Amino acid sequence: MNTITPVSFQQRDKAVNWHPYTQMKTADDAIPIVKGKGIYLYDTENKKYMDVVSSWWVTLHGHSNPYIAQRVFEQLNTLEQVIFAGFTHEPAIQLSENLLQLLPSNQKKVFYSDNGSTAVEVALKMCIQYAHNQGKKKTKIVAFKNAYHGDTFGAMSVSGKSFWTKPFESMLFEVVFIETPNAENIESLQLQIKDLAEEAACFIFEPLIQGAAGMLMYKAEYLDRLMKYCREEGLLMIQDEVFTGFGRTGKLFAADHLTEKPDIMCFSKGLTGGTMPMGITTCSNEIYNVFLSEDRHKTLFHGHSFTANPLACTAALASMELLLQKETQMNIRRITHQHSEFIERLIPHPRVENVRQIGTILAFDFKTGYGTSYFNEVGKKLYHEFLQRGMIMRPLGNVIYLVPPYCITSEELDFIYQNIMEVLDQFKD
Ligand SMILES: *Cc1c(COP(=O)(O)O)cnc(C)c1O
Repeated sequence: MNTITPVSFQQRDKAVNWHPYTQMKTADDAIPIVKGKGIYLYDTENKKYMDVVSSWWVTLHGHSNPYIAQRVFEQLNTLEQVIFAGFTHEPAIQLSENLLQLLPSNQKKVFYSDNGSTAVEVALKMCIQYAHNQGKKKTKIVAFKNAYHGDTFGAMSVSGKSFWTKPFESMLFEVVFIETPNAENIESLQLQIKDLAEEAACFIFEPLIQGAAGMLMYKAEYLDRLMKYCREEGLLMIQDEVFTGFGRTGKLFAADHLTEKPDIMCFSKGLTGGTMPMGITTCSNEIYNVFLSEDRHKTLFHGHSFTANPLACTAALASMELLLQKETQMNIRRITHQHSEFIERLIPHPRVENVRQIGTILAFDFKTGYGTSYFNEVGKKLYHEFLQRGMIMRPLGNVIYLVPPYCITSEELDFIYQNIMEVLDQFKD
C-alpha cells in the first residue's frame, strides 16, 4: 500500500515530533490537518472542524485567507528577507506607520521580533536598561498573579508561578506579584505601588483579560486607576496586548477601553492575522531617547535573525487592512452582540457559573463541585465531546471559552451555542 493513511501520518508524527504542552506518553494521536479554509480545518479523511479557538487565538480572518496569501506571494517574489541592521524595507516602514497610527498617541517607535514571548523579552529589557542607562539600579518587576506572558525565561519570570514553571523556579528573576484591581483592593494596590516604586523597573500586565489563566476578566475602570498610580510613582508600564490586540475585545486594542497610556506595548498572535509568526514591541519617545547616546554601551543590544521579516510584515499589513474594513468591524460587533444574547441562555444552566464576556471573547466555568483533579478530567471529556461534534474547543481546566475568527457567520455561531447547550445538558445530573 502506497497511499498515506491517517494511521501512518500519526505514526510518522509520533516518531519525530515533540508537541507543545503535551505529555507525549499519554497524549492522543495528533489529528492530521491537510488544509484550512475560513473557520474550518480539514483532516486527512476530509472531516472538517470549526476552529473555535482561532488556532490558539491567532487567526482573525479565517484560514488560508486569499487576500493575505496573494499579498505574501507577491512579496515572496520580490523580497523575502533582508538583514534589518543597517538595512530597511517598505513593508516594515509601512507597517510601523500604520500600526502607530492606531495606538495610544505616545507610542512612537516599533521594535520587531518573532513571537509574543520575544515581544515581552524586548519590553522587559527596554525597561531594565532604561534605568541602567540613567545610572540607576532598578531590577524588580511588578506583575499580576495568574499572569501569562510567554515561555522564554524572562516571560516565564513575569508569569504566575505554576507547575509549568516549577523546574525553573530558582532561575527566574525577582518579580512582585499583585492582585488584579477591583473596587475592594484598589487602595491597597496603590500603597503597594508606592512602596515598590523605588526599586521596580516596571509593571507588566495583560489588560482587561488574563487569557491563559482561564479568561479571567477585570474592569477597565480599576486598571486605569492602577495605571495612574504607576505613572505618578514613575513606574514604567508594559501593556501586553499579545492576545487582546487587533479586535478581540470588541475594540481595536484593549488600550481603546482605557484612558491611561502605557509606556510600552507588546503584540503578536493576531498581528499577522494568524498567518506568520511575528512579534512587535512599541514604545514612547521617552523610553527611546534614553537609548540615544554617543556612548555605544547605551544601545539596545537585541535582535533576531528574522527581525522585521518582509513576508511577516506584509501579512500584517494585509491583515490590518482587512481588520479595518467596514465588513470586519461589523462582524466584530455582530459576534459581540450574539455572544451577549447567548449569555442569557447560558446563565441559568445548573452546570454554568462565572459567565463573562469582552467583545468577541466569551468564557464560563463548568461547575463540577468535585475539586480540581476532576476539572482536568472534565476538560478532556469536554474537549473530546466537542471534537466529535466537529468543533475545536480547548477548555482551560474547567473554563470553556470561545475565541472565534471574525469571519464566522451567525449560523455557525448558533451551531456552536446549540452544541454547547447540548453538551452541558449531558452533564446535567
Ligand atoms: C500567548 C501570549 C504570549 C506569548 O506569545 P507566544 O507567541 O506564544 O510566545 C504573551 N502574552 C500573552 C498575553 C499571551 O496571550
